[in-house]
Amino acid sequence: MWQVVGQDRVVSLLQRSLEKESLAHAYLLIGPPHVGKMTLALNLAQALNCEAAERPCGECVPCQKIASANHADVQVIGLTQDENSAEAKLISTDQIKEMQHSTSLPPFEGKCKVFIIEDAELLSIEAANRMLKTLEEPTDKVVFILLTMNDRHLPQTVVSRCQRLELAPLAATEVEAALNSRWGIEPEKAKLLARLSHGCLGWALSAAFEDSLLQQRAEKLERLLEIIKADYEERFAYANQLATQFTQNRGSVQEVLDWWLDWWRDLMLVKIGCRDIITNVDRLDTLVEMAKGYRLAQIREFINSIQAAGKQLRQNANPRLVLEVLMLDMPGKEGRGKQSLATRLAVKNG
Ligand SMILES: [Zn+2]
Repeated sequence: MWQVVGQDRVVSLLQRSLEKESLAHAYLLIGPPHVGKMTLALNLAQALNCEAAERPCGECVPCQKIASANHADVQVIGLTQDENSAEAKLISTDQIKEMQHSTSLPPFEGKCKVFIIEDAELLSIEAANRMLKTLEEPTDKVVFILLTMNDRHLPQTVVSRCQRLELAPLAATEVEAALNSRWGIEPEKAKLLARLSHGCLGWALSAAFEDSLLQQRAEKLERLLEIIKADYEERFAYANQLATQFTQNRGSVQEVLDWWLDWWRDLMLVKIGCRDIITNVDRLDTLVEMAKGYRLAQIREFINSIQAAGKQLRQNANPRLVLEVLMLDMPGKEGRGKQSLATRLAVKNG
């Protein structure tokens, strides 16, 4: 049985190809983090090596070995840790060379060798070129599965040699139902996690079993609420701190913007009376109270500002400037922020 949840279109396509024995020799699975790319890749590896009539059965020896990462013919290639620093290294030419060597040997214990390349957009240029050579010369009994968040970050020559399969985020109700029925998460928690996950079941599952993720979210929300109430002095200090953080970890700042977007979208939804579809379901009271202090147009404008800031950061604009402008755009408590800015400018010019 396929373990991946809610990717029916992609699963039935793979199932049909398995039945007709017409699988591609390389697949590119595209989708946001935690949407189920690795689960699907491992399921496909199981299906290719399964001994049962209905593949993947999940119960035969090969299926179990693959599930526990103990099958000699299924390898996951991904980022490695730099020995001298804590930073992750790009997927190197050596890793791909090793893989190429392995493709020239027959399967060791199973029917088909499967190489899963995680974060394929992080192949170094040399490694991507080598990968291309491997894809150009398909070998029998070898299947490559490349996983990526965004295929635009991969060389077009690599993309064109793979069958593209897009994994879409699930509906919140689908995540909620899966959490509840398959993993026994209590209804209220399942509802909150489903909303916060934005359709990425893997995230919801991690958060269900590791309290630290919800704890981090609570801390981020607290900080966000403080900044909304703060004057420009404090907001600019915060922008500066985020800009420094951005140079070390771009993703974490993008994540902060995503949390903000969720919060202000919720304010808008509360304002127009659509409380049923908000993300932060456990903070409804705060949202209702806060929404009273803003006009709908103010909320909408700031949502546009957050989206524009995200886009500018992705396009390599000066992070400090982008984040400072965002702080200026954020509607504060009536009049307070503006007065503080006037004082600030007067001091500067005076
Ligand atoms: Zn099996």
